[in-house]
Amino acid sequence: MRLSQFHLATVKEVPADAEIASHRLMLRAGMIRRLASGLYTWSPLGLRVLRKVENIVREEMNRAGAIEMLMPSIQPKELWEETGRWEKFGGQLLKIKDRKQQEFCYGPTHEEVVTDFARNELKSYKQLPVNFYQIQTKFRDEIRPRFGVMRAREFLMKDAYSFHLTQESLAETYAAMYQAYVRIFTRLGLTFRAVQADTGAIGGNASHEFQVLADSGEDAIAFSDGSDYAANLEKAEALPPTLARPAAGAALQRVDTPTQKTIGDVAAFLQVSPRQCVKTLLVRGSDGLVALCLRGDHEINEVKAGKLAELPGESILASEEEILAACGTRPGFIGPVGLPDSIPLIVDRDAAVLADFVCGGNADGTHWTGANWDRDARIGRTADLRNVVEGDLSPDGKGVLHIARGIEVGHVFQLGQKYAQALDATVIDDQGKAQLMTMGCYGIGVSRIVAAAIEQRHDDAGILWPEAMAPWRVAVCVINPKNASAAVNEAAEALYQSLNRRGIETVLDDRGLRPGGMFADMELIGIPHRVVVSERGLAAGTLEYRAREESESRALSEDELFALLG
Ligand code: ATP
Ligand code: MG
Ligand code: MG
Ligand code: MG
Repeated sequence: MRLSQFHLATVKEVPADAEIASHRLMLRAGMIRRLASGLYTWSPLGLRVLRKVENIVREEMNRAGAIEMLMPSIQPKELWEETGRWEKFGGQLLKIKDRKQQEFCYGPTHEEVVTDFARNELKSYKQLPVNFYQIQTKFRDEIRPRFGVMRAREFLMKDAYSFHLTQESLAETYAAMYQAYVRIFTRLGLTFRAVQADTGAIGGNASHEFQVLADSGEDAIAFSDGSDYAANLEKAEALPPTLARPAAGAALQRVDTPTQKTIGDVAAFLQVSPRQCVKTLLVRGSDGLVALCLRGDHEINEVKAGKLAELPGESILASEEEILAACGTRPGFIGPVGLPDSIPLIVDRDAAVLADFVCGGNADGTHWTGANWDRDARIGRTADLRNVVEGDLSPDGKGVLHIARGIEVGHVFQLGQKYAQALDATVIDDQGKAQLMTMGCYGIGVSRIVAAAIEQRHDDAGILWPEAMAPWRVAVCVINPKNASAAVNEAAEALYQSLNRRGIETVLDDRGLRPGGMFADMELIGIPHRVVVSERGLAAGTLEYRAREESESRALSEDELFALLG
């Protein structure tokens, strides 16, 4: 592309409501223009990037065996009434009427339409599994459209829907889609994480989101530094506060044991006699020591507390509620607590003044050792209410959780039979019997990815595109083309031609701008490689090359340039 023949329209000023970098840079680079709240026109430059993303998504969906189709964006009310979502979907559903007063919505998602298609098209189990996808415009009447195309009302989504006879088959396709998403975001050159997610209004069982890491992200995610565990904070599994942090110098260990119920079980687990067990269970507070005294003939859940003036001695009885409050756990978590060799559970009632404590504890059939009482956890808070915080133990016991902000760019769900049931979508199985189909659905925010990439990769001068998303990989710049010698113009033209011939997408900046303005534009729009052809370079037989991410330019021969660009 010759820029003199293109429509590049960079601007200096952007409206004050462009709060985040990607929104500002997309406007400044002239990639998008606002038409109305949450509605954007993609300029020729913006569209080049959008198409790059779209093509990678399409290639990987095809590679994973999904089949492309296209459904209407306008959908009839009757279908949405069949699933109950005409009322339930809420304010994001834009409802419209035609001239005959028939009601429709502008599709925010396509479960209804695709399930209707499937119930008509799919008759036999032999046609399953099948995975249909489309790349199509959605409309959601977002309460707060903002951040440009990041949270728009009209946006481009890739949505796929798979149909199965069995849950196992769904699980297989789900895994294949998950892998396809990993490939897509890797190829796009983004730093991302797949996290366990809530299923929200779409419904269903298992679900993962793909989150591009960026400080401006609207979501918070927790991920372990010692394992693959990662979850949206909305979903992250909070351990009981007693287990939330590793103790100083202690290794956290998960010991799988059945949930212990009786003193006998505890004793066996701790490898002590039931009598010793009574002594083993102690709780210490800053205002004295609180002991959990288990009587040998009582069940663990009937634990009684004693408040001690000093170390093991006489006890003042406390109620079970007090113990629960002190431990911050549900009754189910009160169980055999203990390290075989020492004081088992130490509750720090006044975190500010006491040091780290090693403790043990139970969670749903698992015993933990080496944990620390969470000093930030408010006493009395239950495990369900507690939020995961930076430094918490990973629920799988491997590593410590970190919290980061993310932008949701993809979301996969195992839907199960919710929609098939509502719309009675069945196939005949090998016994000739009608069976409801089981479904999965898989979304990618194609247009949001463009903004998310900028959010993750930009500097003061502009966008830093990953190579796979750049509108062009290389910009050939001619200094002062109107006054330059014929040789310079010819050399630039020849270089531009030969780069494109090699399949390296190149733009020739022949607009005749001053060097400062030309370079600023190329940096703003994020072209990864810039080559300047000048009188001086031509004389020396070199090109002035600069990578977008480097601060200095260097002289390269043409061969060196080709080698560098691969
Ligand atoms: P969010 O939590 O950001 O509102 P969502 O969970 O409602 O997203 P999904 O129903 O999972 O979105 O849709 C699939 C994908 O579509 C999302 O992962 C996201 O990348 C994209 N998407 C959703 N809403 C928007 C929007 N308003 N603008 C741009 N992209 C969007
Ligand atoms: Mg949403
Ligand atoms: Mg979401
Ligand atoms: Mg989602």
